[in-house]
Amino acid sequence: CGIVALIGSREAAPQLLEGLRQLEYRGYDSAGIATVELAPSGSAGVDGEPPGRLHCLRAEGKLVNLTARYEAEGAPGHCGIGHTRWATHGKPEERNAHPHLDGRGELAVVQNGIIENHRSLREQLQSEGVVFRSDTDTEVIPHLLARQLERLQASGQPADASLLLRAVQEVLPQLHGAYALAVVWAQAPGALVVARRAAPLLIGLGEGEFLCASDTPALAGFTRTILPMEDGEVALLTPLGIELYDGSGRRVQRTPSLLSGTE
Ligand code: GLU
Repeated sequence: CGIVALIGSREAAPQLLEGLRQLEYRGYDSAGIATVELAPSGSAGVDGEPPGRLHCLRAEGKLVNLTARYEAEGAPGHCGIGHTRWATHGKPEERNAHPHLDGRGELAVVQNGIIENHRSLREQLQSEGVVFRSDTDTEVIPHLLARQLERLQASGQPADASLLLRAVQEVLPQLHGAYALAVVWAQAPGALVVARRAAPLLIGLGEGEFLCASDTPALAGFTRTILPMEDGEVALLTPLGIELYDGSGRRVQRTPSLLSGTE
């Protein structure tokens, strides 16, 4: 029902919660955020520890429930994603709240919309041994991405932001339906990948930071400079900039525009 995603220099969680609050008018039945924190220097790489740590908080009902969990548990990191859910597949319960994670808990995904062919994708993944923890259509996405990332890494590719982008680009053609999504990965703590198909997604440009959202109110008070994504586009966001690609993987350059509206 609503998506926000942030990468930059500030703590992500407070801004994600504020963005979700601005989307509250759309109504929802659960909310959640996931942030990636840089692992303390020295621990990354030790015993296969990823360079980032994923923190995921979800709560049924109103945003105050999620905010209370954030106040109690925290969700550190300068990169993160958030979601308010309007259940289409799976009951409005905490286990079906977004973000949804891969089996290792290293990758988190939020999605707006519907993955029409989720059932056959789920059956395929289950036949390969993947265990599902929710009834949503969305959960196939983190599992498909994790599988693709594993394949790419097995062929010698380093785990970094470009690999996450590539995995998303390779998995998207398998998804049928109308959706917008955002992904973070503990192996690439300084990267955020977003994509849309037949559902809206905007990128707001701040100073050394980017805020993505499914609707303009979430960008209020953050920036008026926006880059609306076009159908089928995928973007890799890092604190340094935006790489935008069309559906066939070609790099796209587009000038940001100014959000109209009252001051
Ligand atoms: N189809 C997804 C679900 O049921 C996303 C719904 C939404 O856009 O909020 O979890």
